Amino acid sequence: MKNLLIVGGAGYIGSHTVKHLLEKGYNCVVADNLVCGHKEAVLPPAKFELADLNDPASLERVFSTYKFDAVLHFAAFAAVGESVLDPQKYYQNNVAGTLNLLAVMKKHGVKKIVFSSTCATYGEPQYTPIDEKHPQNPINPYGRTKLMIEQVFSDYAKAYGLQYIALRYFNAAGAAADGSIGESHDPESHLIPLILKAIKGERSCIKIFGTDYPTPDGTCLRDYIHVEDLAQAHRLALEKLDEYSGYINLGTGIKTSVKEMITAAEEVTGKKCPVEIAPRRAGDPAVLYAANGKSKQILGWEPKYIHIKDIIATAWKWEEHKKF
Ligand code: UDP
Repeated sequence: MKNLLIVGGAGYIGSHTVKHLLEKGYNCVVADNLVCGHKEAVLPPAKFELADLNDPASLERVFSTYKFDAVLHFAAFAAVGESVLDPQKYYQNNVAGTLNLLAVMKKHGVKKIVFSSTCATYGEPQYTPIDEKHPQNPINPYGRTKLMIEQVFSDYAKAYGLQYIALRYFNAAGAAADGSIGESHDPESHLIPLILKAIKGERSCIKIFGTDYPTPDGTCLRDYIHVEDLAQAHRLALEKLDEYSGYINLGTGIKTSVKEMITAAEEVTGKKCPVEIAPRRAGDPAVLYAANGKSKQILGWEPKYIHIKDIIATAWKWEEHKKF
């Protein structure tokens, strides 16, 4: 299994996974519509094809040009707030688009897929840490699109022999340690890049969304996982597809609060971060972190980045020398 198609490989997590797969000797073709992705994030010798999940002809062109052993699928809209305001965009792209991808895979006899799912499929946690047996009751359209695709996979596996692993990420963070690629969203909504932009003076401050949560310092606790650890887990999942199909959490199992993150960023950068206390953001649970025993057991995966300051340091290096 050498030849891979990475759909959404010009995006944040996709591009870091492509980088890792290239380092491990895989042949990578990236298909991306560049709506959220950056062509500069696709490192050589990966090939790039402009294609869109909602344009089946463009997918057919890619599948008739190359022969693939497996697909890694990262292409999705992923902003929770936007998914509430414009659910059609989410169901059309994330659900209908994935059905188009699965149809062209089926036609060309490609049976293996690794998929970006999310802890947002669990919804409001009933207990923490969250393991894979936790009920899935997503509370926004984004989470529902990902859960629907997980269910589609299960049915396609039974009916057509699809081999799949859906990886349920917690909070992806950081950038490539060598500074070559990193996170670049427009608009940016994620905590770490926003803190670093406030430190740089590109934004006036970081707003802390709620200080009255039932947590030790009153701010939300999240499980931040380094993007290179995510990348490695995708490769391990790919290599396990003959033995296992199903769902696996990807998190460190370590919780960090918003206030702890700000303090850690100040320590890493040696600069003060201007802060404003703001109301809670709708849909934010107080505590989200992963039980990650299954990823260790099935994938043999261990996160390399377990100190939040090490994660921030890679993000800071990127933020200071951004290439796109
Ligand atoms: N957060 C915050 N201020 C911001 C952005 C995020 O306080 O400007 C908090 C947010 O409420 C959550 C955590 O930081 O508790 C992580 O949010 P992010 O948007 O990075 O990821 P999410 O958890 O939504 O996937």
